[in-house]
Amino acid sequence: MIQKLKTLAKLSLSEDLFDKLVYTRMYIRSLYYVGTNFFCPICHGHFRIFLPYGLSRRKNACCPRCRSLERHRLIWLYLQNRTNFFRSKLKALHFAPIYCFQRIFNSLLNLDYVSADLSSSLAMMKMDIMDIKFDDNSFDCILCIHVLDDRKAIKELYRVLKPNSWAILQVPIMKEKTFEDYSINTSEKRLKFYGQEDHFRAYGLDYKKRLEDAGFRIKVDPYLWELDENIINRYRLVPENEPRENIYFAFKP
Ligand SMILES: [Zn+2]
Repeated sequence: MIQKLKTLAKLSLSEDLFDKLVYTRMYIRSLYYVGTNFFCPICHGHFRIFLPYGLSRRKNACCPRCRSLERHRLIWLYLQNRTNFFRSKLKALHFAPIYCFQRIFNSLLNLDYVSADLSSSLAMMKMDIMDIKFDDNSFDCILCIHVLDDRKAIKELYRVLKPNSWAILQVPIMKEKTFEDYSINTSEKRLKFYGQEDHFRAYGLDYKKRLEDAGFRIKVDPYLWELDENIINRYRLVPENEPRENIYFAFKP
């Protein structure tokens, strides 16, 4: 019923107005959590706690205002400090968009931004990552966080990226070699074997080689190690009980 009402509201209001109402509601709710312990670099909110997240209810994971998680905040800082994403005129493709990013990216004047996904209702275009409906060499940058490492998908991302352009193709690396088993098909099993209920494999260090096989030059950037511990803790950039991750920065020569 609530979902039906939401859909009805969305249909009868403009996308922009609906989005503003949703965010205003999130903003008002987040006021309860205002404090000084944590800071979200995406929405610039200061909070006494971040919200728990996931089946394991890991503590201090989710921003009460913009709903960003640890990796989102890390990628945000990386984009801000290590790329031209917020400064140059770029045509940007974002696969599997997330609310906290899309809301802002879509409003940036320097970006010609489009998001795509096969199933997410948030995506601006419905599209299979293994069959991207754009011409070769279309984009100046691509963001893809936690999407299939299927070789066909990687090839497609390479194809639509312009030469001398970059992509962030981020997955959590958990093992030496990528492990996946199609019988691991419930949230509980995925949490047990892959560490998170919405993950479909445990990625290994061979992920870099898979990207390189498609033609990318990969910089495995230990960005987190260069950040101040206070920032890592206050911005909460690493999920509880998970190792720190490098950024997979891909370049198409
Ligand atoms: Zn936030």
